[in-house]
Amino acid sequence: MLLKNSIYCNHCKTEIISKHVHDFVSCKCKGENRVTTDGGNYYQHYGYGDTAFFTITSVYDDAKLETRLKYLTWGTYGKSEDEFKVKLVKDLSDNHICAILNTQKHIPKVYIETMEDLIIWREENNEMILE
Ligand SMILES: [Zn+2]
Repeated sequence: MLLKNSIYCNHCKTEIISKHVHDFVSCKCKGENRVTTDGGNYYQHYGYGDTAFFTITSVYDDAKLETRLKYLTWGTYGKSEDEFKVKLVKDLSDNHICAILNTQKHIPKVYIETMEDLIIWREENNEMILE
C-alpha cells in the first residue's frame, strides 16, 4: 500500500502526485521528457518517455501512525458539491472521521487503522477536532 504515489521530474523540476485510483497525472514536459503516474494509494503505474529523467518519490506504508498521518490524504466535497478538496487525514474533524468509518466500508485497511488510531490518540491527548 502506498501512502503517497509520486514522481519528481528532473527536467521541469516538479513533483506530480496521483491522489486517487483514477488520478492520472503528468509533468509539464512535452514529448519524450514527460513522466506520468497513476493509481493513487492502490498501485503505482508510471510511464516515461525515452529522454525522461526522474526520481520516484513515493512513500510506502511502514505501519507507523506518524508516517501515515504525514502522507495519507482524503478527498472530500466542501459545502458546495462542486468544490472537491484533498485534505490530510490528520486535519479531518472527529465527526468527519466517524462518518467515514461508519459509511465507507470498502476503503483500504490502512485508512481504517489510521482513522481509528487517530481518534484514540486525540481522545488520550485531549486534542479533539470538533466541527
Ligand atoms: Zn517534466
